[in-house]
Amino acid sequence: MRITKQSEIQIKDRADILEVVQDFLSLKKKGQNYWACCPFHNEKSPSFSVAPAKGIYKCFGCGAAGDSVKFVMDIEGLSYPEALKYLANKYSIEIEEDTSGNTDEYKAQQTLRESVLIMMQFAQRYYHKLLTEDEDGKALGMSYFKERGFSLPTIEKFGLGFSKDDWHDLEKNAVKEGFTEEILEKAGLIIKKEENGKTNQYDRFRGRVMFPVYDLAGKVIAFGARTLKKDDKRGQAEPKYLNSPESEVYKKSEVLYGIFQAKNEIRNQDNCYLTEGYTDVISLHQAGIANVVASSGTSLTEGQIKLVKRFTDNITVLYDGDNAGIKASLRGIDLILEQGMNVRAVVFPQGEDPDSYVRKVGNFAFKEFLQESAKDFITFKAELLLGEVKTEPIRKAGAIREITNSISKVPDAIKREVYTQHCAELFNIDVHILSVEIDKILINKGLQEQKQKKEDIRREEEKSKNAPPPPFYVDDVPLPTEEYFTDKEVYYTNNEEVETPARKDIKYLQTIAVHEKECVRLLLKYGNYLVEGEVKLWEYLLAEIDELQFHTPVYLQMLTMYKEAITQGIKVDDSHMIRYGSPEIVEKVINLTTEKYQISENWGIMHEIVIPHESDSDKLPETAYKYILKHKYKFVKNLLKNIETQLEEELGEEEENLLLSEYNRLSMLKQQIASESGLVIDSD
Ligand SMILES: [Zn+2]
Repeated sequence: MRITKQSEIQIKDRADILEVVQDFLSLKKKGQNYWACCPFHNEKSPSFSVAPAKGIYKCFGCGAAGDSVKFVMDIEGLSYPEALKYLANKYSIEIEEDTSGNTDEYKAQQTLRESVLIMMQFAQRYYHKLLTEDEDGKALGMSYFKERGFSLPTIEKFGLGFSKDDWHDLEKNAVKEGFTEEILEKAGLIIKKEENGKTNQYDRFRGRVMFPVYDLAGKVIAFGARTLKKDDKRGQAEPKYLNSPESEVYKKSEVLYGIFQAKNEIRNQDNCYLTEGYTDVISLHQAGIANVVASSGTSLTEGQIKLVKRFTDNITVLYDGDNAGIKASLRGIDLILEQGMNVRAVVFPQGEDPDSYVRKVGNFAFKEFLQESAKDFITFKAELLLGEVKTEPIRKAGAIREITNSISKVPDAIKREVYTQHCAELFNIDVHILSVEIDKILINKGLQEQKQKKEDIRREEEKSKNAPPPPFYVDDVPLPTEEYFTDKEVYYTNNEEVETPARKDIKYLQTIAVHEKECVRLLLKYGNYLVEGEVKLWEYLLAEIDELQFHTPVYLQMLTMYKEAITQGIKVDDSHMIRYGSPEIVEKVINLTTEKYQISENWGIMHEIVIPHESDSDKLPETAYKYILKHKYKFVKNLLKNIETQLEEELGEEEENLLLSEYNRLSMLKQQIASESGLVIDSD
């Protein structure tokens, strides 16, 4: 299944980089661009920028760059066609598929990840069909959901389902559809067990109502399943809730139940309600409170908090009305504070959870209850601890230690001050005593961080000592790796198989790649500059490059695109390449045309040298031209060397003559380049 080029361009044109990125990050406008902390590397101050006018993003910290499609690919871990489909879906664009390709081959190319995702999608649809059409599904599953008050639209929205009380039902039906046992197992849907020398396999989920877990992009990555058997009928091995194991697509610590359905509303309301169970999330949605997610029973992880922080800085934790559960979760909340988020807490009346309470009091009263009883978390915790210790002095000291610990996690100094004041009043102690305690914790933490920082700096210095001097231009585009040149995939163009180069040639290819990169960069950045009268730089460059043969697939593709557009009379620049290029090309184009001034200057300071800014220079075209000639010279020299080696072999007369005449031609070319460039070219 391939998407036609036409569809591809339509999707790329329609996708708005700002809208696409905002589904995942909160952006702040500064000047022409929008900024956020980069989702692709860890940082405290934003260096990830989105340029809506150009339709691109670029991180000045780690060099991640691309357009809407590339962003979706990287943030969701999707393949190129998957990312296109995601965007087509978002913008309701119908995709035209190119069916001329061989679908078997396409299937074979699917990565394990994709296969597991397809498997999960099938399972979700299958379980859902059982719920709505199967006799047992209707009698047991549907009636359970109805009992909980879930409406049909709600059931659809969350894709709920039912699994039959049968050891092989899903397995049989999936295999019939062409899924392999291996994928079923990798997806965690069947369990394989060795027993007495033979393998037994059976469905993981049997006789349960199914809650599919979606990722941010709305793909099913796991299931939560609740048994329908009463306590007394359940054996020890059958827990009430059963979850998918971790898999290629499911990392438990980075997922929150309901995030897909909640993310837009979380951003709109600038707040996220955090509950414990699947049914809490679903009930609240149905009651019109859509900014709610669940940690599904596990204690909160940093990954989960970061997931929420993409959309808001405010979390309200909803607690069931029993103290034991609350105490156990307090530690997780300190993690949220550490992320600089504002945390509030709501406790439901004794014996109630969000699900039961909303059904009891109704939507309106429920919303009012949330408004009125939400308490700032530190105050909430202080009151809770205080209520427990009563007047016992020793336990009171412990409680104070705990609350100071929590306060010290708050990154904002002013907020810390306010909390300290307030807690001093609550505990009825001198505010200075509390302050001193908190300062102690902070100083210790600071000392540790300082030590770490020193270590980092030392390591950085060590690295820069051994680093080579900076080139004329510093950019983010690394040399292609050896693997790049031996990877057959990158040599497929227009479905034609091209031979990959031999290993011994790879060193040379890597060097040439630098030259090719520079040619492409000059073309993209300064191609339309006038160099002599009406002659543009690209005319010069292309004429010269024609003599060379590009070897690095991606640069060859870029050059070909450039030439094709030129022949059609199109004025080519970076935006043309971004519109029509593959994700690989898009990333390269952005990184080649955006300068990294910061790094350049750091280099300069570190090595006490002045880095020329090429855009300051009037001599740019001349420099570029000379640069090309220099590269060309090296290229021709290598060809000559190759012929020399070939001539050493025993050859037929005809073959030898052919080689000799080629040798002569190249020698003359070499001479010509040398004199033309006016450079004294050494014999390296
Ligand atoms: Zn980054």
